[in-house]
Amino acid sequence: MNLPDPSALAERAHSALARCGAEWPTGNLTARTPITGTEIRTLEQHSADDVNGAVAAAHDAFGDWRTVPAPIRGAVVRQLGRLLSEHKTDLAELVTLEAGKISSEALGEVQEMIDICEFAVGLSRQLYGRTMPSERPGHRLMETWHPIGVVGVISAFNFPVAVWSWNTAIALVCGDTVVWKPSETTPLTALACHTLLRRALADCDAPRGVHQLVIGGRDVGAALVDNPQVALVSATGSVRMGREVAPRVAARFGRSLLELGGNNGAVVTPSADLDLAVRGIVFSAAGTAGQRCTSLRRLIVHESIADELVARISAAYAQLQVGNPFDDGVLVGPLINDAAFEAMQSALTAAQSSGGTVVCGGERVGDTGCYVRPALVRMPKQSEIMHTETFAPILYVVTYNEFDDAIALHNAVPQGLSSSIFTLDQREAERFLAADGSDCGIANVNIGTSGAEIGGAFGGEKDTGGGRESGSDAWKAYMRRATNTINYSDQLPLAQGVEFG
Ligand code: NAD
Repeated sequence: MNLPDPSALAERAHSALARCGAEWPTGNLTARTPITGTEIRTLEQHSADDVNGAVAAAHDAFGDWRTVPAPIRGAVVRQLGRLLSEHKTDLAELVTLEAGKISSEALGEVQEMIDICEFAVGLSRQLYGRTMPSERPGHRLMETWHPIGVVGVISAFNFPVAVWSWNTAIALVCGDTVVWKPSETTPLTALACHTLLRRALADCDAPRGVHQLVIGGRDVGAALVDNPQVALVSATGSVRMGREVAPRVAARFGRSLLELGGNNGAVVTPSADLDLAVRGIVFSAAGTAGQRCTSLRRLIVHESIADELVARISAAYAQLQVGNPFDDGVLVGPLINDAAFEAMQSALTAAQSSGGTVVCGGERVGDTGCYVRPALVRMPKQSEIMHTETFAPILYVVTYNEFDDAIALHNAVPQGLSSSIFTLDQREAERFLAADGSDCGIANVNIGTSGAEIGGAFGGEKDTGGGRESGSDAWKAYMRRATNTINYSDQLPLAQGVEFG
């Protein structure tokens, strides 16, 4: 495999950051690229005290920001969207350099940021409350939505910019201020986004304190989680992280919005259009080297078509080019680090000890970085290893006979993020979407599990944490609701007919 010189990658990161206007920092945190597994540069890491300072600054800024009319707040987000469009390729370069995404997916991730900015600008004129009929004459009953305060955003390495934008664009129009703790694996990408948002704020004469960036690992995240001035902690990452974060936020009666790991399944029924199914399955399972929260990990196939489908997926996998994510034609970039490679190998070993057969893939490609061929594994049943999320490209295949069994198998894992069914049978499709069908936050028909649009609410059930971000009415998580009763009469009737005096 032909990989670029590490110093050329460092130079590429330097130039992209400079074009975004960010200063080239130095410090004790090492920014690396999974393309070669080498260092790009060091940068400054924040302490718990720095986090508390950032939260205090965001809290100060909130005092004024909450009173700025929402459509004026929307103007900042509109300007951010313009700057993101202008720097789309710079940001995509950084995403590829730090997260290892192929260029097309990196550009797609930046496009998602631009899209959510557009959505948020429209939303800034639609933060609707309801008016309800009062049971009392001369009274009006309504609800009002107010900004909630400082939002602490903790994000994962695999969507280093989109997740930030989903949270930040919506939080800003809602009147909140934001302290962002990105993944320690993607700090330079975060620095570029922060710089562009600060520029948008300056362009609109808005207070720069509404957005703060803190760089570091778990301890920096923990300082954000524990700070009582952080009204909402929106945390994206593993189930392990969510288990640590949720009780700490709950202990101080803060609010949390959790977007945790998935273990996504697809059911393929006898009537499925297999040409379409194979394309959807391969993109969802092997795309982003299996490092999406929505990556397809479990295939539940009717036994009558399993052999044919497995053969076709295996043939498609053989065509996948694995390598430098900047190269044209490459569809599978590197795993993020050695630990991800080791987790993949130990999952494959566990699958084999449970009677699984590796149909293809799983082996390392090249000796630099962590490149692997996506693995396809036939399993005799949905054993223990299929109940955990291994953040790597492994697709397990099990078969079913009765449709009810397919749904039961599908729902039998602890996570509940994304799901899909490939079928041309309307009864099966509707059943999959019904109350006794898929138990996930996302349920698709004739589309794979990954690649959601920003217009819908994004998130999942069970161990995935229950949070919803992005479109639809996900904005409500970023605001507090007040119910108002207004008496415009000269009487004081009490509710429920109560007499007092
Ligand atoms: P991770 O859990 O290791 O880290 C995520 C973030 O949480 C990082 O910023 C990390 O520093 C921080 N963190 C970790 N422990 C913490 C703690 N105790 N207190 C405060 N902060 C803490 O996850 P990762 O490896 O970066 O990302 C992959 C995981 O994220 C996968 O499980 C994937 O499914 C999940 N993910 C979920 C979604 C979603 O929307 N549901 C989206 C992207 C990724």
